[in-house]
Amino acid sequence: MTPDKAQSRAALRHDALRFLDRLRAAFPLEQRIERAEMATRGAYARVLTRWIEGKIPSLDLLSPAEMQSLRELDAIVPGPSGIGCYPFSVDDRGISVRLGHRRVSAMCAIDALAMARLARSTGIVDARCVTCLNPVSCEVQANGSLQHDACENARVLWRHAVRKTGSCSDGLCRDLVFLCRQCAAPEDGYCLTLPQATAVANAFFSFQRGLILPGPV
Ligand SMILES: [Zn+2]
Repeated sequence: MTPDKAQSRAALRHDALRFLDRLRAAFPLEQRIERAEMATRGAYARVLTRWIEGKIPSLDLLSPAEMQSLRELDAIVPGPSGIGCYPFSVDDRGISVRLGHRRVSAMCAIDALAMARLARSTGIVDARCVTCLNPVSCEVQANGSLQHDACENARVLWRHAVRKTGSCSDGLCRDLVFLCRQCAAPEDGYCLTLPQATAVANAFFSFQRGLILPGPV
């Protein structure tokens, strides 16, 4: 590799790590789950495992106390039709992932890119560019790597915060969006290439892999 190429690869890694650090500071989900009581962690693992199994967790999966604890951590997003759990959303938010024969809604662009590795299945992400609304698609392999042809398809933009309070699903998630290859990134936004964003997504959610329960729950 030429010195120039090595330098630009190091810069790319640096950008991705900075993005990951900022993401973890804005939404310290892993830290919150690590510090939670054993019962709360167990309840979280049950919700997550349902999603991995391809089912939407129903509200009666959790006791009222478990529901409250997980809501206080902003680890789940309960709604009328079930329990959302980052990266999985109960509601259609304009970003979906085809995992095998099923289609799952994602909370945000980063969340969509994390699903394939979590579900150990190829994931085809379908979304729209936040600026021009043209379709954006990419394929993530079951091992979390991006299908090579997809690397230039889009970027992930962390746009200037629309809203900073409340649940991450209504705040930060609304700001993590896809941008197509033609549209310019806004000056106050923070943009990653698709391979960088996929690496960030896998790293952010890697703690969940150790929580997924074996067999049906
Ligand atoms: Zn566009």
